[in-house]
Amino acid sequence: MILGIVPAGSANGMAKELMIPAKLQDALQIIENGRQTGMDTILLNEEHLCLHLSDVGINAQLIKNFEDGDTRGKMGYLKVAWKTIVRRQVLEVTIKDGKKSFCHKAIMVVIANAGKYGTGAVINPEGEIDDGLFEIVVVKRLTLWGFLKIMLSLGFDNKNIEIHQTRSVNILARHRAHFQVDGEYIGKVNKITAVIQPGNIQIMLPEIDR
Ligand SMILES: [Mg+2]
Repeated sequence: MILGIVPAGSANGMAKELMIPAKLQDALQIIENGRQTGMDTILLNEEHLCLHLSDVGINAQLIKNFEDGDTRGKMGYLKVAWKTIVRRQVLEVTIKDGKKSFCHKAIMVVIANAGKYGTGAVINPEGEIDDGLFEIVVVKRLTLWGFLKIMLSLGFDNKNIEIHQTRSVNILARHRAHFQVDGEYIGKVNKITAVIQPGNIQIMLPEIDR
C-alpha cells in the first residue's frame, strides 16, 4: 500500500512539510507521477501511529480548547490561544531514552517525526522523515514574546528548547496532561512510550529539484 496525500485539512501541516501543493490537481499529479519513498512512523503507547508531530502539554491543551468552544475567526482563535497560555500548566517530566534519563520542567514535550507545525512554526529543525530517528523536543519555557513569535510563524526561541534525538523513549509526567497525535486530541495521559518504525510506510512525494 502506498500513501498519497491530498491536503484537505485546516492547517495541512504534514502536506506543507512534505512540499505537497494545496491545489487538488497538483496534489493528484504527485500521487500519479511523484516519487515513491519510505517514511518512518512513531508508534505511541503501542496504539497511535504518528507521522508528523505529537505533543503533551500546552499545544494539546490548545487543540482541546478549540474543540470544546465554538471558536470562529482570527479573533476567536487568538482569544482561546491567549486564555490557554495564561492558564498554562507546567509539566514535570522524566524522559528516559534507553541510556539516559532527564528530568525537566516544561510547558510541552514534542515527539517529532517531522519539523514544523501547520502554522509554519519550526519546532524541530533537525527533523527528517526517513532517517530512522525521531526527536524529543522539550519546550522549557514560553514567554509572551515567544508566544507571539509562534503565532507569527517565526519559530521557537532556541534558548528555551532542548532537543534529544533517539529511537525510543519513555516519558513520565508527574501529573496527567493533555496529549495530541498529529493534530488529533487523544486525552490526558501521564505516560507515553514512543518507538520509531523505520521506513514503515510508502508515500508519494514531489520529485526533488536538482
Ligand atoms: Mg527522523
